[in-house]
Amino acid sequence: STFKELGLNKNIIKALTDLGYENPTEIQLKAIPQVLSSSEDLKAFAQTGTGKTAAFSLPILEQIDAESKDTQVVILSPTRELALQIANNIEEFSKYLDGVKTLAVYGGASIEDQIKKLKRGVQIVVGTPGRTVDLINRKQLKLNNIKWLVLDEADEMLNMGFKDELDKVLAVTPKEKQTLLFSATFPQEVERIAKNYMYKPVELSA
Ligand code: AMP
Repeated sequence: STFKELGLNKNIIKALTDLGYENPTEIQLKAIPQVLSSSEDLKAFAQTGTGKTAAFSLPILEQIDAESKDTQVVILSPTRELALQIANNIEEFSKYLDGVKTLAVYGGASIEDQIKKLKRGVQIVVGTPGRTVDLINRKQLKLNNIKWLVLDEADEMLNMGFKDELDKVLAVTPKEKQTLLFSATFPQEVERIAKNYMYKPVELSA
């Protein structure tokens, strides 16, 4: 299949062509139609390098409401480097989508600056768990209109000790959201998150 056959619009396809993405990877072939067609939770076994970033970003971008400035998706990732990389990828994927704004939030950088940018309206927030919780506690990141929560490299986040932060974000986001969990391994702690916070997740692997 092509990206077009998976159901993505021409502005997204054009951006993918600019990036040299010709054919979807295996995880993209499986995840994109799934996330486009259903709001079921998703548990995906995928290592880095499989194209997982596009696998979760593209179907969400396809469904983002650019007319609204509310934060509609939060993507949690274990490190600042990964958060920046995901945000950069999403900016490239969305360069022909008018009004779609993405922001990376992470520790070790000015929180005031991040708050200023959030106030202007950001539909897509990519954050490290600690800074994301900090912004929630300061009431600067409002999650009441979140439609998607992505946990990228869930095993790494838990290995790094972010259990309480993940519990906090999962607890304060609306119940009706779609949770997409990506992990290279599924130890007990990852399965606990899936069991406690996801409803009958569909399982995919790359
Ligand atoms: P990821 O696993 O999301 O970190 O992606 C790994 C690398 O593959 C990144 O450099 C992506 O830009 C690239 N990539 C992802 N999907 C595709 C695709 N369909 N075609 C070509 N390159 C891709």
